[in-house]
Amino acid sequence: MLQAQLLDLDDGVKGKILLVDDQPTTIKILHQLFNKEFDMYMATTGAQALDVCKKVKPDLVLLDIEMPGMNGFEVCETLKSDPLTANTAIIFITAHFDEAQEVKGFQLGAVDFIHKPINSIITTARVKNQFLLKQHSDLLRAIALQDSLTGVANRRQFERSLPDSWRHCIRHHQPMSLVMLDVDFFKRYNDKYGHQQGDDCLRLVAQAIRSVAGRPYDLVARYGGEEFVCILPDTNLDGALSISQKMIDAVQDLAIEHTDSTISDAVTISAGVATIYPKLDSSWEHVLNEADKQLYLAKKEGRNQVRGVSL
Ligand code: GH3
Ligand code: MG
Ligand code: MG
Ligand code: MG
Repeated sequence: MLQAQLLDLDDGVKGKILLVDDQPTTIKILHQLFNKEFDMYMATTGAQALDVCKKVKPDLVLLDIEMPGMNGFEVCETLKSDPLTANTAIIFITAHFDEAQEVKGFQLGAVDFIHKPINSIITTARVKNQFLLKQHSDLLRAIALQDSLTGVANRRQFERSLPDSWRHCIRHHQPMSLVMLDVDFFKRYNDKYGHQQGDDCLRLVAQAIRSVAGRPYDLVARYGGEEFVCILPDTNLDGALSISQKMIDAVQDLAIEHTDSTISDAVTISAGVATIYPKLDSSWEHVLNEADKQLYLAKKEGRNQVRGVSL
């Protein structure tokens, strides 16, 4: 996975640029400068820009500051406050040099400025520099936060994301569910088929689990060994039980032979769910512990099943 990304970087993967300006002439000029080397997207209002960002996750946004309705600063602030779009690199386009505006832009998280009228050489250099930086920081983030064996999030990313999701659910009075998942009889699998095939099995299981947790703010992480954990914000116990059951089914549908399992001919997983309406004084460590207890129950009651509790 990471290797593939390294290769992509060497091959010069095509980046995505979103142009946002209420004046079509500026968009036209910038489009001509970059459309051969980048996939281009266009928006003429702030609201449209936010929409496109969520959908296509551009690498760079060239963002006009002065627009009717939502201005560029507001768009930038909104993008930076949403974990899904926070890593987008933003270059502001300004009508003229204005120190106070640039200070504000950098404070909001922009990476650079371009001034109108567009100078094609300066603009091309700035955009290409920022694209390279973005590629490198994406790669570093992937190395730091992805599990190298399975490609899902690693434990570090889980530990970084959980407090954010927790606060989000407190603010919006939403339930949050945590799911712990564990491969059944995996020691026997390794003993029978070897460690290499054990690793292949973990990759497939991880992808099957992730394919089920499909909402943008869901997170699937490898917790350690043959254990996975899911953060399901805005999901009540019924919802989390149903998602967990789908994960269990998805793994069984992989039909990975496991003749030494005493409960099935194929690899299976068990799951434990704990759901809470988080409050300021409740702790997510407690919820994780409770999910682990439910997982233990699922194991005790025969494996290949889910147990859950509402706290
Ligand atoms: P249970 O159904 O109770 O969960 O039994 P189990 O055998 O799955 O549980 P146990 O904790 O006894 O064994 C977990 C095994 O998972 C130990 C080790 O062989 C295997 N394992 C852990 N991490 C890895 C890994 O990264 N790769 C491979 N191939 N195997 C791993
Ligand atoms: Mg404008
Ligand atoms: Mg285990
Ligand atoms: Mg196990």
